[in-house]
Amino acid sequence: MSDLRKLPSVDELLRTPTAESFVFAYGRPLTVQALRYALEQARQQALQGGALAETEALLDACRAALQEWTTPTLLPVINASGVIVHTNLGRAPLSRAALLAVQEVVRGYSNLEFDLDSGKRGSRLEHAGKLLQRLTGAEAALVVNNNAAAVLLVLTALAKRRQVVISRTQLVEIGGGFRVPDVMKQSGAKLVEIGTTNRVHLPDYEAALQEPVALVMRAHRSNFQLLGFTSEPTLDEITRLSHSRGVPVVDDLGSGTLLDTAPFGLGHEPTVQESLAAGVDLVCFSGDKLLGGPQAGIILGKAGLVGKLKKHPLARAIRADKLCLAALSATLAHYLKDEALREIPVWRMISADLAGLKSRAEAWRAALGAGEIINGQSTVGGGSLPGETLPTWLLALEIRRAKEAMQALRRQHPPVIARVQDERIVLDPRTVLPEQEAALLEGLRRALNPFLEIKS
Ligand SMILES: *Cc1c(COP(=O)(O)O)cnc(C)c1O
Repeated sequence: MSDLRKLPSVDELLRTPTAESFVFAYGRPLTVQALRYALEQARQQALQGGALAETEALLDACRAALQEWTTPTLLPVINASGVIVHTNLGRAPLSRAALLAVQEVVRGYSNLEFDLDSGKRGSRLEHAGKLLQRLTGAEAALVVNNNAAAVLLVLTALAKRRQVVISRTQLVEIGGGFRVPDVMKQSGAKLVEIGTTNRVHLPDYEAALQEPVALVMRAHRSNFQLLGFTSEPTLDEITRLSHSRGVPVVDDLGSGTLLDTAPFGLGHEPTVQESLAAGVDLVCFSGDKLLGGPQAGIILGKAGLVGKLKKHPLARAIRADKLCLAALSATLAHYLKDEALREIPVWRMISADLAGLKSRAEAWRAALGAGEIINGQSTVGGGSLPGETLPTWLLALEIRRAKEAMQALRRQHPPVIARVQDERIVLDPRTVLPEQEAALLEGLRRALNPFLEIKS
């Protein structure tokens, strides 16, 4: 025990030049905390029979603690997985213009809720709202925190304690805890399920509409396909029938897209414009899925209903913030200017040509001096186009202990997220941002060296 008294005190440590440099970099209170922490660790070690830590080791432990405590855990990563809208990796990367818009608006003050003409209070919803109306022809628009919040608001404001009709073919769980029946329950709406798991018919809707109904809802299936003996009426048919009974229709598109995905060798993802053309009263979708913008929930449709939503107290609780509105407005402007494919990363990735992908993968192989270029598949992800893939070229690396190597890749700065396929590590150039390529190659070299013979 007498040994422990040989440990320096916090004050003694603070007088060392190293600790002085910690105080300079991290401030005195945190440095003192870290020194106490390092000393406590040394005490525990000694009590368990270990050697007493030297001053240098104490300061090293202190430095490690200071670095760990002050490094944000939310970091950029390199997405080489080939999943374009990867929910675990933050969904849509923003366009350069969207980034700049956020910076400009957030660095100082803005006219977020200030009408520059009249000098009076304005509405934050004007900004993205006008762009959305111009793009889609919708009567009115409302932007909230995310699409889950949008659905909750619609159901709460328009159908609380009343019936909402939805087909069993659409009672989905989309991951991250969003289940359509649970959201209904939370909103206080009464779920009326119609049809069966695989088939629903117009007479099913007709029968349900005999009762007093607040809304008919359609939900995008997002992450699974309905195949085989299946049937659903079209949105046109559902809308016409519902309107003939005076009941509004809400379409939760999930991802939603303003552009058709079919020309890129993908299936058809229902567009926002199609829903509005079918006459739905409200359509809602995410900002950070195929739209390619910031996290947001966008609600478009009839002015009367959107007006009701805006006035509901819940709307205030889930409103979009200025960072979101700045990035969303800039993203929407890309669509208006017909430059979405070029400027919005998600669409640049979807529309990337195969030859370009192959030459990028080949350049990676040449730089590493290892691997093989093989055919592969990218996916869109984000609850859109389930089961659909895009052909791509992959760099495949033959690795002995693939699992360990994947972990080594995740420990790089920035971390590299790859895929394992047939016991090989594969990297898809489609989802790697061009400006991250140098960092990717460096990360690959450093992480895989112990697992692979790489010529440098
Ligand atoms: C993704 C999705 C949501 C939730 O959207 P968030 O923006 O993630 O909140 C809701 N409904 C459907 C059908 C979806 O695909």
